[in-house]
Amino acid sequence: MKSHAKVVVIGGGIAGCSTLYHLTQEGWSDVVLLERNELTSGTTWHSAAQVTNFGMNQTMVGLKTHSINLYKELRDDPDYPVSYNHGDGGIRLANTEAQMDGYRHFASMARGMNVDFDVIDAAECARRHPLISTDNLVGGLWDGNDGDIDPASLCQALARRARKAGAQVYRNTPVTGLTQHKDDSWTVHTEHGDITCEIVVNACGYRVNEVGAMMGVHHPVMSMEHQYFVTDDIPAIRDAGHRMPLLRCPISDYYCRQEKNGLLVGFYEQNCKTWGMDGIDPHFVNALCPDDLDRITDVLEGAFERMPALADVGIKTIVNGPITYTIDGAPLVGPIPGKRNAFCIIGLRAGLGEGGGHGWLLAQQIVHGEACYDTWCIDPRRFAAHTNVELTALKAIEDYQNEFRFHFPNEHRPAGRMAKTTPLTPVLAAEGAVFTTVNGWERAEFYKPNADFHITHSFRFDESHDLVGAEVNAVQTAVGLCEVDGFNRIEVTGSDAWAFLDRMICGRLPRKSGRVGLGYMLNHHGMLKSEVTIANLPATDRGSERIWLGSAAAAECHDMDWLQSHVGADDDVQMRALTNDQTILVLAGPRSRDVMNKVSRNDWSKTGFPWLSVRECFIGIAPATVMAVSFSGELAYEIHIPNASLYAAYLALREAGEEHGLKLFGGLAVDSMRLEKGYLHWKADILTEFDPYETDLGRFVDMSKPDFIGKKALAERLAIGPQKRLVTLNVTCNTSAAQAGASVMLQGKVVGTVTSGAYGHRTGKNLAYAFVDPDLANAGTAVQIDMLGHMETAEIVPKGQYDPHLTHVRS
Ligand SMILES: Cc1cc2nc3c(=O)[nH]c(=O)nc-3n(C[C@H](O)[C@H](O)[C@H](O)COP(=O)(O)OP(=O)(O)OC[C@H]3O[C@@H](n4cnc5c(N)ncnc54)[C@H](O)[C@@H]3O)c2cc1C
Repeated sequence: MKSHAKVVVIGGGIAGCSTLYHLTQEGWSDVVLLERNELTSGTTWHSAAQVTNFGMNQTMVGLKTHSINLYKELRDDPDYPVSYNHGDGGIRLANTEAQMDGYRHFASMARGMNVDFDVIDAAECARRHPLISTDNLVGGLWDGNDGDIDPASLCQALARRARKAGAQVYRNTPVTGLTQHKDDSWTVHTEHGDITCEIVVNACGYRVNEVGAMMGVHHPVMSMEHQYFVTDDIPAIRDAGHRMPLLRCPISDYYCRQEKNGLLVGFYEQNCKTWGMDGIDPHFVNALCPDDLDRITDVLEGAFERMPALADVGIKTIVNGPITYTIDGAPLVGPIPGKRNAFCIIGLRAGLGEGGGHGWLLAQQIVHGEACYDTWCIDPRRFAAHTNVELTALKAIEDYQNEFRFHFPNEHRPAGRMAKTTPLTPVLAAEGAVFTTVNGWERAEFYKPNADFHITHSFRFDESHDLVGAEVNAVQTAVGLCEVDGFNRIEVTGSDAWAFLDRMICGRLPRKSGRVGLGYMLNHHGMLKSEVTIANLPATDRGSERIWLGSAAAAECHDMDWLQSHVGADDDVQMRALTNDQTILVLAGPRSRDVMNKVSRNDWSKTGFPWLSVRECFIGIAPATVMAVSFSGELAYEIHIPNASLYAAYLALREAGEEHGLKLFGGLAVDSMRLEKGYLHWKADILTEFDPYETDLGRFVDMSKPDFIGKKALAERLAIGPQKRLVTLNVTCNTSAAQAGASVMLQGKVVGTVTSGAYGHRTGKNLAYAFVDPDLANAGTAVQIDMLGHMETAEIVPKGQYDPHLTHVRS
């Protein structure tokens, strides 16, 4: 065995083989794969191996398209052809119009990735799949690229190509330990000796946490037992003259595809089971769990009803094997949080369909630092440390039970709730708060009028629409209070702190004590990495001069990782996470100053505490740090309070606000107002696929600075000109907001993609942001948005439709 390699990939299932192959494709040949047994001896060998193009966002669709194209190439390789049934087609069924709306939206989104899905009615479903009944069926989504592949030969083909390009594959070589050195390189210990390397990749399938433990990491991945059976021949299939399309049924939680002249039918039963939670037998290799058909009787009945031919056919084989799930259903592909030179490609529950694409995106991240798509939806840093084994198990069970039931907008599922709360959570719940979760934190979305109030999950405006309008109205005309818990906050200190931030941030910094600014971090390609509020806190009796960086709750691990990885060995820079200790109360609206004057003895006048100021003070008896910043577009104060005194501050503000008509407001009202104001959301509108100029954030770039990360690449991009431009659209549709991913069309062609949409209750406009072709990015241009199957007219309008001259925030 080699004693050194640039990259060591641990695990020889589809994840590891695909990563190894793609590393060689990106030009790195000094790469090694270590497999404890034989290739594919984990989950991969017994996979049902369906390969769909369907995904719920453009990154997932794009990576699946890559899988499909790669698998077609491997199928057509005369030296080592892989068995791949591409193009059988597949249908996802629906028995409600709301599900059909979802499919219409996903079809619009996929069109932007050059993938065509058809939304078809029940009769057309039955025409395309002659074995199904149309009882209780509204229709479905047709994916013409659907098919299945032979998993073993796929992995062998990838490993074979990687070897040809210089990679090494060592089978029967279990990794037994990992040691990281001061220079961030690794020694990988195996039963056959050590190998040193710069970078390790965990691709260990259901053994992910055995290898995670070797580097002191717990990954939020849980295995579930998952069963399918293969039937004897079915005469109708044998005689059909064509292969049967695949079927995925969210009504009865099963899937099936043709296997020889019978069917392979797999189940997502409600009575499901985690696997290996307390350790995995080291001898579980090329192995299956015991058959357990009793567990699936509930699902089986539904499958028989939909496909009566199943009821009369014998079962040839039963497969019950471990399949991995993560906390939100999407895999973890990218840098391992808190570690340097360590990546993972784990938690794949559809690894055969997706594995080609995930390995491709991971190899790009390893070699180039970033992939061609924004990979946040699969980034391992999207969760914080709260994702323990118990929470992961609860979410994995919930996700398994809902495998084919996609999330509706504003649908927040019940398992594992209250993982992260503040002292205000029960108080706001008693006020009627309907919560969403953000990085595990419970955050009020809106306030319901009574306990019996429920919204219908839908892609259209729902029952919360007018309630949100009333919350916005209170903020616009009087004063509103909103808790923003989990907001990421990093305190930066040290004599080199400002010099460090000057390197990290592409624009000017608020160097004057007591001032606040907004800054953007770019990656080395000049693309947008992070958005931070930078507060220059003066020295007080609470501490010496320091800087607070604030960013989205979801950015907690991401931003800390990015910042820490750029602190030089000689830099005097210290960073401390404050996220779990403090919570923000946002006080917004024209009467907010009156409320501040009542709860605090400081001067809150326009000149005493102007817009973009920060100070420490007390709210009643609660110590607070207040910033004059606004995401709503109204006069507003962001009040940061230690959790221990949060309730005291809340009581003081409520009491003071009563005479001014203070009303609680939630995240949906914030979203409505920020779209009207032209403010962006990280990872909705701020993506690594675009630079700051394309994202209309050019005013936050200072190219005259001597240097900052990404400057050189940005200058090169500037010379070429924008590929897309972010614009605001006014949509003439009064039944739904434009959903992220919807295609912007002109004369039948896709010219852009929506990133966010919400109804603006102050302007009465249905607004959206979208990246569009640069030549169209002018106010007044008319386009269409493919919304739920309709081409809705939309006009490009100036950004910041509400109070464009900032008179309210500066008032
Ligand atoms: C019943 C069933 C049906 C499925 N159907 C589909 C489907 O239709 N379509 C689809 O896309 N997906 C399907 N899946 C999921 C898919 O099979 C998996 O997502 C995929 O196989 C996971 O691949 P992997 O490489 O991540 O893990 P694995 O295949 O488990 O590979 C991990 C490898 O790491 C090795 N390893 C572990 N520890 C060490 C160590 N210490 N040292 C060295 N090597 C180590 C293991 O031996 C193993 O070979 C199905 C899964 C099941 C269970």
